[in-house]
Amino acid sequence: MAIRRICKYGEKILHRKTRKVSFDELKKDLPALLADMFETMDAVGGIGLAANQIGLSLRLAAIKIKREDAEPVSIVIINPEIVEKTGSLYEEEGCLSFPGLFAKVRRAAKVKVRALNEKGLPIEINAEGLFAKALQHEMDHLDGIVFIDHLPLMSRLKLKPTLVKLKARWKKLDESKMKPM
Ligand SMILES: [Zn+2]
Repeated sequence: MAIRRICKYGEKILHRKTRKVSFDELKKDLPALLADMFETMDAVGGIGLAANQIGLSLRLAAIKIKREDAEPVSIVIINPEIVEKTGSLYEEEGCLSFPGLFAKVRRAAKVKVRALNEKGLPIEINAEGLFAKALQHEMDHLDGIVFIDHLPLMSRLKLKPTLVKLKARWKKLDESKMKPM
């Protein structure tokens, strides 16, 4: 297992739609890839990670949420599609590809998603609250959409100076990690 580098805002792969997965082609490499994705999420305290966030154009994502009031969620979604959306939430979100940035984003409160699981079997997920938000956030990634793309134009313009500063910080972090020990 290995912790993968997470692509940051501005890297092209984050802003492109991912390729649909052929489960048969991927299945040999899938266990190691998923182990890395979960390890990477654990290392940075994330609750969701899309394959293109670690540089792979594959329509798959992993979600892991600890919940006080319900069973923990640990799920892999391959080629997911939202088939139903209801209600509305307007809550703060963050993203592993934007460390240090948070913004309020409107999402559906409940979603029904169809996907394949890590065994290649079709699953249907009914999610609400944080789980529903995470599914929508990760599926956006797979479509090349990042959370700030949902903000109104004026809010995005206001964020520009903050993003410039954050990008400089991310670059330093990446460089410091590359130095030999
Ligand atoms: Zn994200």
